[in-house]
Amino acid sequence: MRHVYVHVPFCRRRCSYCDFSIAVRKRIPSEEYVDTVLKELDIVSRGPSGWVHPGATPRGPRTPALSAAAQDSDFWEPLESLYLGGGTPSLLPPDALATLLTGLFDAFSSTPAPDAAEVTLEANPEDVTPETAAAWRRAGINRVSLGAQSFDDRVLAWMHRPHDAARIGSAVRALRDAGFDNVSLDLIFALPSELARDWGHDLDQALGLVPSHLSLYGLTVEERTPLARWISRGAASGPSDERYADEYLFAHERVARHGYHFYEVSNAAREGRRSRHNSAYWSGRAYLGLGPAAHSYDGRRRCWNIAAWDAYRRAVAAGGPVVESEEVLTEEQRELERLYLSLRTDAGLPLAELSRPLPTSTDLWLQRGWVELRDQRLVCTAEGWLRLDTLVNALTEQPAIG
Ligand code: SF4
Repeated sequence: MRHVYVHVPFCRRRCSYCDFSIAVRKRIPSEEYVDTVLKELDIVSRGPSGWVHPGATPRGPRTPALSAAAQDSDFWEPLESLYLGGGTPSLLPPDALATLLTGLFDAFSSTPAPDAAEVTLEANPEDVTPETAAAWRRAGINRVSLGAQSFDDRVLAWMHRPHDAARIGSAVRALRDAGFDNVSLDLIFALPSELARDWGHDLDQALGLVPSHLSLYGLTVEERTPLARWISRGAASGPSDERYADEYLFAHERVARHGYHFYEVSNAAREGRRSRHNSAYWSGRAYLGLGPAAHSYDGRRRCWNIAAWDAYRRAVAAGGPVVESEEVLTEEQRELERLYLSLRTDAGLPLAELSRPLPTSTDLWLQRGWVELRDQRLVCTAEGWLRLDTLVNALTEQPAIG
């Protein structure tokens, strides 16, 4: 397991569009959270978990947080990426975050050299101060993914975000001053028309801060969110495919002019600044998830932890099991995932790996500029990414060769 995701479930309030697995808390039980996650790591590494990598070098982690049995396990490999996501990981006090990272670095690497691995913290702008930024850097974090979402204070209030637009700029400056040269900004597009959100203005504000990476997500309406309730009682308009497509294509054109390259359907980066962690997901690599609701994958089996914080905490305290459910992917499911994952990135789908003939509609896709053939790979353009489901469906409708 060279890629580890840690889910930190705590949030101050639920954002209007969010259906993630979170725990809204005024007071964050940070010490208990860190102890629990490190204990889960101990449980998982002792197995029998199915997560022991056959090529792993036995070395024994040197962390007092883990039991002797875990330290003797051959589970450990140096990390390539560690991603603290949520929820709101930046709500953890810096001391708690440092304890968590020390436990993880000690466990996964005999030489705790955080800069050898990409270590990302998802942060909300209101949590970034010169002090927290400096403490995060000292703790070994070298990439921050900042949930900006919009630079319009009206829109941010509608989203239930606690920050205002000015706070995004001051957060980026504080991160830079603390030594972070790898900062990503998240923005949400395709908002309801009645908000009259100026997408071009928001993109320009983001680009003006010169982030190394941008994640641009179209608003989706999830059940049991405040947004879904607003729409059902007519207080907000529903999603518009047309606005989604217009704003998506606009963003492609605008960010390209500033030197960013869309390397995945929702992600654009400057040269050398692709997310290594997310790229591991998209290339089908194995990963370990820790924390409530976290998913893990070993190339064949996917499992996910108990989602609710209290139930997860109790399960870990009792010594496990922490996994709520699992699925073992069939060959067909794995092929479908490979198709999706390869077509959603700019690496595209290697034709040599295709076990089916290309559909006759491929010529039409090429003529319309939805896909391109590059180096024996089928690669989506921005127009193709808007039609990803259609393309994958057409590809899988072909009978398998042999
Ligand atoms: S901060 Fe993030 S995880 Fe928390 S409610 Fe808002 S969108 Fe969801």
